Amino acid sequence: MPRAVIVGAGIGGLTAALALKREGWDVSVFERASELREVGAGITLWTNAVKVLRKLGVGGAIEAAAAPIRTSELRSWRGKVLVRTDFGALGDKLGAPTIGVHRADLQAALADAVGRENVQFGMTCVGYTPDDKGASALFAEGDVVRGQILVGADGIRSLVRNQLLGPEPPRYAGYTAWRGVGLIERPEVPVGVTVLAMGRGSQIGMLPIGGGRTYWFATANVPPGGAAGPDGHKAELLKRFADWWPAFPAAVEATPDAAILRNDICDRPPVRKWVAGRVALLGDAAHPTTPNLGQGACQAIESAHVLAQSLKRADTADAGLLAYEQSRFDRTAQITNESWQLGKVFAYENPLKCWFRDRMFGLLGGLSVRHTEKIVGVEV
Ligand SMILES: Cc1cc2nc3c(=O)[nH]c(=O)nc-3n(C[C@H](O)[C@H](O)[C@H](O)COP(=O)(O)OP(=O)(O)OC[C@H]3O[C@@H](n4cnc5c(N)ncnc54)[C@H](O)[C@@H]3O)c2cc1C
Repeated sequence: MPRAVIVGAGIGGLTAALALKREGWDVSVFERASELREVGAGITLWTNAVKVLRKLGVGGAIEAAAAPIRTSELRSWRGKVLVRTDFGALGDKLGAPTIGVHRADLQAALADAVGRENVQFGMTCVGYTPDDKGASALFAEGDVVRGQILVGADGIRSLVRNQLLGPEPPRYAGYTAWRGVGLIERPEVPVGVTVLAMGRGSQIGMLPIGGGRTYWFATANVPPGGAAGPDGHKAELLKRFADWWPAFPAAVEATPDAAILRNDICDRPPVRKWVAGRVALLGDAAHPTTPNLGQGACQAIESAHVLAQSLKRADTADAGLLAYEQSRFDRTAQITNESWQLGKVFAYENPLKCWFRDRMFGLLGGLSVRHTEKIVGVEV
C-alpha cells in the first residue's frame, strides 16, 4: 500500500488523510502540537464543503454536532437589518445545507475517521528530502519518515511551502480578528440565523453552532502584531464595541477572557505552483484566504478530495499531483482575490463610503444570493 506522509493535522491535513485513506493509501499525519487542540472558535461550512464531507463518510457525524444556517442577516452596526437572505432555500436547492460548527467538533470527527493511531503529535517538521519516487519528512525530534507522496498541510506559515517556493511572509489584510464561543441561554441570534454587522472600520459576526453555543467574531483596522492590553481582550472588545448592537457585547460577556482568540488576518497572493515532484501543498499552505467569504477551510476540504481523486485517476503519482495542482488553481485564486476585495469593503472607514456600502448591500441582496450560489454550488 503506498504511503502518504501528511504534515499538519488541521482541517486540511485531516481531510486529506481521510480522502487518501479511502482511496487505499496508508496515511501518516504528523502534527507539531502535543494534542488536537480545541480551538475555541466556530466555523461556517458552506454547501460545497458539506457535500465533500458527506462523500468522505463524515457528513453525518459533523452535521449532527453542528447547527444548520437557514437565514443570513446583514445588519448595520446599530443592528438595523439591511438584507435578510434565505440560505435554507439555497441549501435545499443545491442538496446540502450550510452549517455552523465548533472547530473542535469538526476536527474530532475528522480525526476519528482518519483513525487516531494514524495521527502523531509532538512532531515538528523541519524540512524534507525529495527523491525520484517519494519524499522524506525530517522532524525536529530526529525522525525521518518517507512516503510515496508528502503533503504539506501545515498552514499559512507552512515550512513545506517555504522549502518548495522560498520564504515569503504572508500579506497582512489591514485588520485583526477576535473570536470566541459563548454559552448563551437566551441568544438574540437564534439557531438557524447568522448575522454580520458592518460599521466604520469594523465588522462583527455571530452564529449559533449547536449545544447552546454562539460563535462570534469581530474585526478592527489596527496595525499587525498587536496583543491584549493590560485588561485583556474581553475588556478591550467591550469598550471598542460598547455602542454597537447589544447582542454582540452580550455574546462577548458570555465568553471567558482566556478563551478569546486574536489573529491578524492574512493571505497570500495566489501562485500556480503547489507541487514539486512528489511533494504537494494543501489548504492554507497552498491557498490561504481571508475569511470574508467563509471559504478558507471549505477550499481546503475541496482540495483534499480533489487531491485523492486526481491520484486515483492518474497513471503515476507525479501526474496525479500535477493534475491536482492544475484543477484547483483557478477556483481557489478567484476565491482568494474576491475575499480580499470584499474585506476591503467591509473595512471602509469613510462615513460616506460606509453609507453607500450599506445601501448597496441592501439593494443587491438578490444578486448576492445568485453570486453565493455560483461559489457554493460548485461540486468537486
Ligand atoms: C478569523 C478566521 C475565521 C475563519 N472563518 C472561516 C469560515 O467560517 N469558513 C471557512 O471555510 N474558513 C474560515 N477560515 C479559514 C480557515 O480557518 C482555514 O482556511 C483553515 O483552518 C485552514 O486549514 P489548514 O489545515 O490548511 O491549516 P491550519 O488550520 O493552519 O492547520 C495547520 C496545522 O499544521 C500544524 N503545523 C504547522 N507547522 C507545522 C510543522 N512544521 N510540523 C508539523 N505540524 C505543523 C499546525 O499546528 C496546524 O495544526 C477562517 C480563518 C480565520 C483566521
